[in-house]
Amino acid sequence: MSVVSTPAVLLRSFDYSETSKVLKFYSRELGLVSVMAKGIRRGGARGQAAPDIFSRGELTAYVRPTRDLQTFKEFALAEAGAALGKDVVRFAGASVLAEIVLLHGAPDPSPHVFERLTNALRRIEVEPRASLIGAVLAEGWVLVTTLGYEPQIEGCVHCGKSLDSSEVSRFDLAAGGTRCADCAAGHSGPLVGPGARHQIRDLLRGTVPEELGKPKAHLHLLHDFVLYHISGSKPLKAFRVFGSLAELDE
Ligand SMILES: [Zn+2]
Repeated sequence: MSVVSTPAVLLRSFDYSETSKVLKFYSRELGLVSVMAKGIRRGGARGQAAPDIFSRGELTAYVRPTRDLQTFKEFALAEAGAALGKDVVRFAGASVLAEIVLLHGAPDPSPHVFERLTNALRRIEVEPRASLIGAVLAEGWVLVTTLGYEPQIEGCVHCGKSLDSSEVSRFDLAAGGTRCADCAAGHSGPLVGPGARHQIRDLLRGTVPEELGKPKAHLHLLHDFVLYHISGSKPLKAFRVFGSLAELDE
C-alpha cells in the first residue's frame, strides 16, 4: 500500500453508512478512483466534512493497486464545487460532462482528460446563461474527443469522399461520422445538413457557434454518440435531466 496525493475533482458521493461515504473522484495520477471516507459524515476524526460535488483540490489516499476501493486520507480543497450546486441548470450541465467520464470508466489515468474536465467545469460555472447549452455541448464533444472518440464530419465515413459544402449528410453512429448523400440513401441516422456540420465543427473546437440551431437535436446527437461509443448502452441520466431543465427549443 502506498500513499498517493493527486489533483482531483469529486464527481460522485454516496452515503455508505451513518458515518461513512464512498467518494468518486477523477484524478490526474489515478484516473477514476473511488475512496472510502470513514467518519466523514460526522465531520471525521480530522474534522473534515465531505466536499461538495465538483470540488477541485488535492486528494490524498492510501492506495492498493489491486483494489477497486481505496482509502481516503484527506482532501485539500482548492476550488469549491458549491458555485455549480447553486444553479440547477449549471449543475445538470456539469453532470453531463461528469457522466461522460464516469461511463467511460477511464481505466487509465489521463492528464489530458483531467485538464479538459476541470477546465470545462470552471467554464460551466461562469459561462453566460445565453451560451450555457452551447458550452455544455462544446465541452462534451471536446471531452469525447480527448477520450479518443472524435467524430468524423469532414468526409463520408462510408466511401471516403469529401462532403460538398451544400450536401445534406446523415450521421452514422456506428461508424462515428457523416455519410455523404449517396451513401446516406436508406440509412436511418439523423440528418446533418451543412449548417449543422458547421456548428459541430465549432463545437469540436470548444467554441459555441454564433447561431446554435436546434440545440435539442445537438444534445440528442451527443447523447446518442456517447451511448453508442462510450457508455456501452448504459442509460445517460444526466443528459436527460439537463435536456429537461435547459428547456431546449426544437
Ligand atoms: Zn459516401
